[in-house]
Amino acid sequence: MSVTGLCHVCEAAPASHTCPRCGRAVCEDHWDDDADICTACAQGQTQ
Ligand SMILES: [Zn+2]
Ligand SMILES: [Zn+2]
Repeated sequence: MSVTGLCHVCEAAPASHTCPRCGRAVCEDHWDDDADICTACAQGQTQ
């Protein structure tokens, strides 16, 4: 999967993932590899 543009969270690093929950493109720093969602969604989830 290729993602173009900057991370929608920090807007400083190139985005490398797209969150399936919120649809935002995020960089490695803002991607939760365990949950396969962005860190913003990972922090908000209550599971
Ligand atoms: Zn980021
Ligand atoms: Zn998200």
